[in-house]
Amino acid sequence: MVQRNPCIANIKTAYLFPEIARRRREYAAAHPGVKIISLGVGNTTEPVFPHTGGGLSAGAAALAASETYTGYGDEQGLTALREKIAAVLYKGMVAADEVFISDGAKCDIGRLQLLFGAGTQAAVQDPSYPVYVDGSVLIGAAGGAMQGGAVYRGLTYLPCVEENNYFPDLDMIPPNGLVYFCSPNNPTGVVSDRKQLAALVEAVRGKGSIIIFDAAYCEYIRDPALPRSIYEIEGAKSCAIEVNSFSKSAGFTGVRLGWSVVPKDITYTSGESVNTDWNRICTTIFNGASNIAQAGGLAALDNEGLKETRALTDFYLGNAKLIRDALEHLEISCVGGDNSPYIWAHFPGRDSWDVFSEILEKCQVVCTPGAGFGPTGQNFIRFSAFGHRADVEEACIRLGNLK
Ligand code: PLP
Repeated sequence: MVQRNPCIANIKTAYLFPEIARRRREYAAAHPGVKIISLGVGNTTEPVFPHTGGGLSAGAAALAASETYTGYGDEQGLTALREKIAAVLYKGMVAADEVFISDGAKCDIGRLQLLFGAGTQAAVQDPSYPVYVDGSVLIGAAGGAMQGGAVYRGLTYLPCVEENNYFPDLDMIPPNGLVYFCSPNNPTGVVSDRKQLAALVEAVRGKGSIIIFDAAYCEYIRDPALPRSIYEIEGAKSCAIEVNSFSKSAGFTGVRLGWSVVPKDITYTSGESVNTDWNRICTTIFNGASNIAQAGGLAALDNEGLKETRALTDFYLGNAKLIRDALEHLEISCVGGDNSPYIWAHFPGRDSWDVFSEILEKCQVVCTPGAGFGPTGQNFIRFSAFGHRADVEEACIRLGNLK
C-alpha cells in the first residue's frame, strides 16, 4: 500500500463550493419543482461576445487545416499574447518575458507555491479566496487545522474587517514570507486604494517578503483613481508577482486562460532569480495554455475585444447594483458591488451557514457563507453578481422574504 500525502490529510473539510453544491442538491431533492437561483459561486453565465468568440473559432479552425495547424507551443505562451498583455494591459510597466500565459489564475496560484515550498511563512487576508489557504496546506506551508477547524497552523491571518476599512494591519506580515493579497477582493468586493497598496509594498519590501497579488477582478474597477495592477505602485516590481485571468473579464471560465507576471527584479534570499525558476516550473510541469484559448485571448485584447470586456463587466456590475440595492432596502449593511462583482453582507451575531440555510429555505436563493472564506467571515454572506438578469431580478424580489 502507498502512504497518503500527509498534507492532503491536513485539509479540514470539503472545498467550500462542493459543500454548497451538496446542500443545494439536498434542498432540491426535498423540494422537487422549486426553482433555485444561485448568487453563490463566481461562475460566469453570459456568452462570450462575438469578436472574442470569433478569435476562439478562428483558433479552432486553424487546427483543422494543414497550412495553419500547430501542436505544442511555447510553455510560457504565444509571444504575441505575452507582448499584447504587456503592452495593452500593463502599458509597458512589465516586459513580455515577465508575462507567463497559463490555464487560469487558480492553477497558477497552486503552481506558484512550488517556488517557495513547504518551509515558507504565508499570510492571507481574512477573509480570502480559499485557494491561497488550501494550496498552502497542500504544499505543506501550512499545517493542521486549529480552533475547531477555523484556521490552519503556520498561516498568518490578516483580519480585514469594517473596523480597519477592510485593509489589514501590515505589522502582522511575516518576514521573508508570502502575502496573498486580492484586490478587488473576493469575497468582500472591497478595492484597496493607491495609498494602501503603497503601504503594503513598503511593508513587504521592509520584511523581505513577496506579495502574490491576485488581480482577477481588475476589469471591474470603474473608479479611475483605484489601481488595477500592483505594478502601478512604485517598488512593486521588486516584491510582487501578479496573477490574472480572462475568466471574469472575457467570460473564459470554461475556456481556461490566465497569466502571471513574474518580474525579473524579484530574487530569493539567496539572490537567485524567481523569474528563472518560474520559467523552469512552467517548462517542466506545464505544457502551455491551449492554442485555441490563446487565439481567443489575442482577440479579447483587440480594441473591439476590450469594448466587449467593458460591456460584459458592465452587465455583471448592473447585477451587483440590483443585489446591493435589494439588500440595503432590507437595511442589511454591505460593502462591495461597485467596483467588483461581489457584495459582502453583514448579519451581526448570526452564524453564516445558518443564514445560508435561511436564505435557501425562505428565498430559494443560494449564496456563499462567509465562514468559508476565513474566521472573520463568520457573520457575513457573499452574494455574487454572476447570473442572468432575469434570475438576479427574481432573486432580489425573493430576498424580500427575509424581512
Ligand atoms: N482568483 C480569484 C480571486 C478568484 O475569485 C478566482 C475565481 O473565482 C480565480 C482567481 C480563478 O480564476 P481562473 O478561472 O483564472 O482560474
